Amino acid sequence: MSKNNKAQNKKRTGAVIAVVIAVVVIAGAAVWYTSRIDFKLQQAGYTKQQIQEIKTAFTDDEQKILAANKAQADIIAIAQDERFQADKLTDYLKGLAEGKDADALLEELDPWVIAIRAAKGFREEYYDDYLRVYPSGEPRDAAEKVAYINRSLDMINVEGYNVLFADEYEARYQESPQSSLEDIVKHVNKIHEYKDQANFIESKLERYEAYRAENPDLELAEVLRRVNAGVDKPFYTDIQPADMSKGYLVLVNKYFTVDRDYEPELEKLTGYGYGSLEKTAAEWFKKMVDAAKADGITLRSVSPFRTWGTQYSFYWGYVNSAGQAKADTYSARPGHSEHETGLAVDINTADTADHFENTKEYAWLIDNCYKYGYILRYLPEKEYLTGYIYEPWHYRYVGVDYAQKIMESGLTFEEWYALNVE
Ligand SMILES: [Zn+2]
Repeated sequence: MSKNNKAQNKKRTGAVIAVVIAVVVIAGAAVWYTSRIDFKLQQAGYTKQQIQEIKTAFTDDEQKILAANKAQADIIAIAQDERFQADKLTDYLKGLAEGKDADALLEELDPWVIAIRAAKGFREEYYDDYLRVYPSGEPRDAAEKVAYINRSLDMINVEGYNVLFADEYEARYQESPQSSLEDIVKHVNKIHEYKDQANFIESKLERYEAYRAENPDLELAEVLRRVNAGVDKPFYTDIQPADMSKGYLVLVNKYFTVDRDYEPELEKLTGYGYGSLEKTAAEWFKKMVDAAKADGITLRSVSPFRTWGTQYSFYWGYVNSAGQAKADTYSARPGHSEHETGLAVDINTADTADHFENTKEYAWLIDNCYKYGYILRYLPEKEYLTGYIYEPWHYRYVGVDYAQKIMESGLTFEEWYALNVE
């Protein structure tokens, strides 16, 4: 009931009580009666004028009610109740004439109850629940309330229902109203199972589930790791253009390609090794080399930006000498190399035989590269996630805002990207 209605009802309540009390208190002195009912009404305390009004406005049965002292108490009780509707006085009287009690009548004639009973989907067995006080956030509309209670109570019988998740089931319904109750319960329960996992991404739920079904022996954490990195799909399948709008965070790998004609604004690395890098990446590379030099460490570029054509020759050269399966572990197919973005650089070597990971140059890079916006891109023991062997020489510019976070996360760039950029 709205505030306005309540205020109005209060006024009406006051008026009705006044009338009823008045007729009891101001008893007419004169005895005027033309029939038995007039006499009874007069005995009940109504004035001559009031009796005439009663006889015009009310039926014979209602007149009998008004004449009965008990009925007067009932009417006063009704008028004082919060649910009282002044315009339904006649209905209350009729109800009393039929022998109903005051409380039943108030409930029956309550507009909210009437709306609830008229609402589509109304079910007698949930009646008391429909009338329960609203917890905050519940629907205010009768039809909505009926639908909400039906849904909430029907849900309890669904297999796997957990009362602790009730609010989440409802939230899921609001999000996906076409889903069956079974699907809603299943979905929310599943999310809870995953939520405890670090690195859970809700939008990937279906992929986690599919991968898990195919690999039932894998730990859940490992399922998440692989799907986040994208390797639930075989390498070089479902290939998409890289999202260049991500700027320095662009992800290029065996699933995302750089356009064949792409060429960033380049800056030569003259004095800092071979070739060029994207302008900003180049500036920060030079700062990094200068800082290393001050610490007695010599760094130089041996392989920076490559065109699609260069990558093509590199890759097919490796395929011809080592075979494709082997070549794919250390060389990207044309279009799939980070070097084509101008944001990646191989430092000092590009050969596993050199064991760059054991040098003081590598140690310096691991401690300092993030300060210049660079990350180690192909981590040890993560070949199955990145698709490439550990490359201690390959650094990728992502900008100083993110490099430290990525390095500290210990995640592959693929996983970090899925969690933070995608
Ligand atoms: Zn490289």
